[in-house]
Amino acid sequence: MDADERDVSPEKAFSLLGNDTRIEIIQALWDADDPLSFSELHDRVGIRDSGQFNYHLNKLVGLFVRQTDEKYELTYAGFRIMGAILSGTYTQRAEAETFALDTYCPDCGTELIAEYEEETVRVRCETCERNRSTFGLPPGAFEGRNETELRQTFERWLLNVFSLMADGMCLNCSGKTVGSLVTESEYFADEQEAGIEFRCERCGDYAVGNLGTYLLEHPAVVAFHYDHGIDLTDYPVWELEWPRPENARIISEDPLLVECVIELDGDELRLSVDEELAVSVE
Ligand SMILES: [Zn+2]
Ligand SMILES: [Zn+2]
Repeated sequence: MDADERDVSPEKAFSLLGNDTRIEIIQALWDADDPLSFSELHDRVGIRDSGQFNYHLNKLVGLFVRQTDEKYELTYAGFRIMGAILSGTYTQRAEAETFALDTYCPDCGTELIAEYEEETVRVRCETCERNRSTFGLPPGAFEGRNETELRQTFERWLLNVFSLMADGMCLNCSGKTVGSLVTESEYFADEQEAGIEFRCERCGDYAVGNLGTYLLEHPAVVAFHYDHGIDLTDYPVWELEWPRPENARIISEDPLLVECVIELDGDELRLSVDEELAVSVE
């Protein structure tokens, strides 16, 4: 298939949406459980003139709406537009708020706070006056969640974004991400020597995390915990001692090699990670 003939410019795609009736059509198709006929769809959209209605509907067919067997339904692009509307990223401006996190600063032990402002969460230690983490979060995430659920959302969101990027995919643009060891970052804790960075090759979005967070899903780590009575698939990660940021020691500068030691009940598991993020059990 010829990509040039099928691709639509961003200007064209977004200009197609700049109309009340067209947004109402997308919303009505989203609300419907099944594809709708022309008259069913017309009934649900607040425009009387059926010529006008037809005109706007036809603008959407192809890119945002699919027509099959005289019925209309949203395409994947239509679903994504509705998802963007519901998440509030483009339509809501959230109130600034501050939350205590029930998670503690690895450097000084102060309870961390999350400040939400301009659609960005900043996890901060007020004692060290430092950002521990910064990430964008759509305002729609606040709807229907109480403070406890929000704290969990912040933590899970971060872990999930990190894990998606570790799997090679950017949450922002679906581009390909590459991972590397880094020895400097504004997000490092005081004693931290190394961390992991994932960067999107297309949009440049990036995430920096602890080596421990990266190793949590490694089979040797999962098995080592399992042998000591800990099921990592069902365990609050923040209660583990070893994934601390300082538990990543540089053992070779060139080539760069970083070691992480996990201790459970007096047993030790030693892992090293190289520049390509390949993990070896020592
Ligand atoms: Zn601190
Ligand atoms: Zn990207």
